[in-house]
Amino acid sequence: MAKDFECNLCGSKKASKVPFRYLFKERYLWLYQCDTCMLRSIWPLPKSQEIEEMYAADYFTEANSATHHMDTDYLALLNNGDYADGIENMRKYCQAGSILEIGCATGNFLNALNKVGYTVKGIELSSFAVDYAKKNFGLNLINKPFDPALLNNEIFETEFDVVIMGDVLEHFTNPTEAMQLVQKILKPGGVAFIHLPGSLNLLSSKLAFFVYKLTGKQKTMTIPPYHLTEFSGNSITLMCKQSGFSKVLVKHDIKHPSTIPLRGTFIENLIKKSMQYPNYYLTKWFGVAGDRINVEAYK
Ligand SMILES: [Zn+2]
Repeated sequence: MAKDFECNLCGSKKASKVPFRYLFKERYLWLYQCDTCMLRSIWPLPKSQEIEEMYAADYFTEANSATHHMDTDYLALLNNGDYADGIENMRKYCQAGSILEIGCATGNFLNALNKVGYTVKGIELSSFAVDYAKKNFGLNLINKPFDPALLNNEIFETEFDVVIMGDVLEHFTNPTEAMQLVQKILKPGGVAFIHLPGSLNLLSSKLAFFVYKLTGKQKTMTIPPYHLTEFSGNSITLMCKQSGFSKVLVKHDIKHPSTIPLRGTFIENLIKKSMQYPNYYLTKWFGVAGDRINVEAYK
């Protein structure tokens, strides 16, 4: 195993290689599973300079799943989003109040929440997205990484009723520290909504890893290592509990097979397709093996 591996959640130095790696800047970054707490994370982590470059302007404007995050133009996706459901959902948790979105991109959802009376703050690493939010919505987003340096400067203890983290925690180099900070800035009884991708929890991924292990091969990704932690329902629950949250609710969800783009080889895609429908109903009926993990963590 890699030298100096240290689990971000439990600090253990013992981990096993998952047959999954990124080829990034002429070196391999492997996925490891901690032997103690089972958290799966990339090791070694990319350098902070490399991470900054990964989220430059083209992250939001390029549409090419071979080199970037997704096929759809991300900016177009954000601007065409329907935020009415999100607002309706928010009303169930608090009628009015203070909301922080971490990794708020161009601020579209915050803008919608602000318009119906919520007090909003947003944190976003991409200066392109922050400029966009200022110009188009008049929002003053915090253009800094989400880390403890923000405390008592831009954000404060027990400031927020709700913290939203949509597809962001898996991008962090130190997710445990981030969740400890989220716990601190929530009001007593406040809630963090955490949405995570979980495609490695799918049946097809589990089968692929099994076959890769048997044959001594591995999946090599050539897109940049955007996801530094691969969560399961258990590992995110443990991370929230250890960060001081009193109650954690996890719901697995899954995209309908017809909406899932395929990025693998012919054989990989064939296996995936044949398992997608059984997997879809397994998740819908029994709440397991989904590719989306939705979490409510209460302080
Ligand atoms: Zn661990």
